[in-house]
Amino acid sequence: MEIQENLSSIKQRISAAASRSGRDAAEIKLVAVSKMTGIMEISEAISFGQHDFGENRALQLRTRKQLFPSENWHMIGRLQTNKVKEVVENACLIHSVDRMELAKEISKRSLQSGIIMPCLLQVNISGEEQKAGIKKEDTVDFLKEAENLKGIVFYGLMTMAPEVPIGEAEKVRYVFKELKELFDTIKTMSFANVMMKELSMGMSNDFEIAIEEGATIVRIGSAIFPKIM
Ligand SMILES: *Cc1c(COP(=O)(O)O)cnc(C)c1O
Repeated sequence: MEIQENLSSIKQRISAAASRSGRDAAEIKLVAVSKMTGIMEISEAISFGQHDFGENRALQLRTRKQLFPSENWHMIGRLQTNKVKEVVENACLIHSVDRMELAKEISKRSLQSGIIMPCLLQVNISGEEQKAGIKKEDTVDFLKEAENLKGIVFYGLMTMAPEVPIGEAEKVRYVFKELKELFDTIKTMSFANVMMKELSMGMSNDFEIAIEEGATIVRIGSAIFPKIM
């Protein structure tokens, strides 16, 4: 019951945030972050119509894709190059491309699998040292360098805002605003393997603000699933 209620409340809040900012809620995808929850909870979410899930570990993503092959599995966490093969074979979208070495490995593995892997570039807007992501000012150069890579397409940008206490999410609005500005700038440029259409930003604590600033994908875990792991 709890998961159903949480999902429907999140969807209502997504709709409200979309209409506040004159947007269509249908253009915002909810990725239910299942990294901390179990198989039963995922089954439950699926039965209530949730079909996009986010994982931050390659091997758990693979196991869950095998259990629930019809669902869409998003890789949202830091990805080691030695796990790229599993992720390329099982994920629908990699949100967390944060370095050239990783982009190259994704390209190589995708070519071997005969696919073109949809990816997002993770940008570290806040500049916090412990956060993954390319620096904002290096993003365009990164895309220029990655332009020659086959087997990989960049559909947009992802960021994580700094953690702030509940109720203080307004403090991170600038992060979402800056990522949207960068997104719009890159949109005016032309790269062989870049098509800017997705902005993955916003988590349980701050997704409404992210939507107001233009998010097309929100990644929500703890507001949907009870923590069991
Ligand atoms: C865990 C995680 C989320 C979800 O966070 P919640 O605060 O539980 O909603 C979103 N994005 C990434 C990259 C994560 O690792």
